[in-house]
Amino acid sequence: MKKCRCGRELELLDYTIKTYYKEKEISIHNVPTYLCNKDHVEFARKTRIRVRELLKNAYDNNLDKINYNSKGELI
Ligand SMILES: [Zn+2]
Repeated sequence: MKKCRCGRELELLDYTIKTYYKEKEISIHNVPTYLCNKDHVEFARKTRIRVRELLKNAYDNNLDKINYNSKGELI
């Protein structure tokens, strides 16, 4: 079981994250997210890499909502 930096166990959930890419707000649904019960959030390295690719793709296609599990289409 993966541990949080605070020492608690992390639970893997599909989570919606909202972030900014070049000042555009974009939400990504169903991102595999590790959460502890103190609401600390962590992502696997490969998840962070994919999120960066999806954000770039969304920005280039002028989307503000995308799904982690699809190739960046609208939900
Ligand atoms: Zn924690």
